[in-house]
Amino acid sequence: MKVLVTGGMGYIGSHTCVQMIKANMEPIIIDNLCNSKLMVLDRIEALTGVRPTFYQGDVRDEAFLDKVFSEHDIQAVIHFAGLKAVGESVSKPLEYYDNNVNGSLVLVRAMRKAGVKSIVFSSSATVYGDPEVVPITESSPVGATTNPYGRSKYMVEECFSDFYKAQPDWSITLLRYFNPVGAHPSGTMGEDPQGIPNNLMPFIAQVAVGRREKLSVFGDDYSTPDGTGVRDYIHVMDLADGHIAALNAVGQKEGLHIYNLGTGNGSSVLEMVEAFGEACGKPVSYEICPRRPGDIAECWASTAKAEKDLGWKATRTIAEMTADTWNWQSKNPEGYK
Ligand code: NAD
Ligand code: UDP
Repeated sequence: MKVLVTGGMGYIGSHTCVQMIKANMEPIIIDNLCNSKLMVLDRIEALTGVRPTFYQGDVRDEAFLDKVFSEHDIQAVIHFAGLKAVGESVSKPLEYYDNNVNGSLVLVRAMRKAGVKSIVFSSSATVYGDPEVVPITESSPVGATTNPYGRSKYMVEECFSDFYKAQPDWSITLLRYFNPVGAHPSGTMGEDPQGIPNNLMPFIAQVAVGRREKLSVFGDDYSTPDGTGVRDYIHVMDLADGHIAALNAVGQKEGLHIYNLGTGNGSSVLEMVEAFGEACGKPVSYEICPRRPGDIAECWASTAKAEKDLGWKATRTIAEMTADTWNWQSKNPEGYK
């Protein structure tokens, strides 16, 4: 099966392409490389023995998409391409809405022209806002987002839901990721944030490798067991497998399919710091700082629906997430260079 993978050179996309090739799927990658490097293609090839077809281009460029669709018999699309930095989205809302919302609309328009009726979209647990109840199920309230990034994900979900009502013969799958972390166990592929990392795990990894002095722990006065924020961290390889499970289970089934991709377990910031220290063999320096505006206390997924419908369940442990991140970070201290 040929699958167009937008943003396939990025963190989650690249790991998904490796797992797709292993599952005998053929990813056709498009990426404008605004947040990734061409070298990722070499790494995918080294791991799989297959160099995927790659087009450098933008999902907002409809003529470019038309050309790609005309050159391949594509059966489905996985749409990862987008901007993802929460803080940056506050200072650049137009760029975020243009890239994430407009990009998704242009893509679906090109798919409609090409007769491709199956799309899997990278959404986020951020659409749930600050949940009243955990674990979060797919029918928990959505829309109370706190920043343009989150709103752009919610808007795309809304646009796609309306589009599905008009085109009920499509398969539209919204995957709400919890907190993707970790790296390929080979240590040759991983997350490579540009500038100062916003997210916890890459920040810890850069402290451990000596690129940063210490982690700022954003708040220890939440109503959680140790006072620090609790999240559902999921290994990027499990997340990658979740996409393949979704394509196989519902990718050819008409419907608007919505799934949480998480582990169902919450871990605190201090638990992650501790686990990383064990993985790298030395303590990770940190200091307790004030809360980060917009943060919530705790958030983890109910995984029952994905388990039942997709036959998929995350299996990798926190110890594997930290060990694989450390393996990647220590072998590639400057990322893809
Ligand atoms: P990433 O930045 O590593 O990958 C995104 C890729 O898309 C990059 O390679 C970038 O160059 C490309 N891209 C961006 N805009 C493009 C455009 N207009 N045209 C073509 N290519 C473009 O991010 P990621 O962590 O792999 O995330 C993938 C998707 O998952 C994103 O949509 C993100 O919002 C979503 N998501 C990520 C997380 C997370 O914590 N990493 C959590 C929830 C949802
Ligand atoms: N966090 C932290 N220091 C950092 C980055 C994150 O203490 O430098 C905390 C943050 O407050 C949250 C958790 O780590 O409780 C996960 O944050 P991240 O930004 O990785 O994910 P998100 O907040 O989007 O779930």
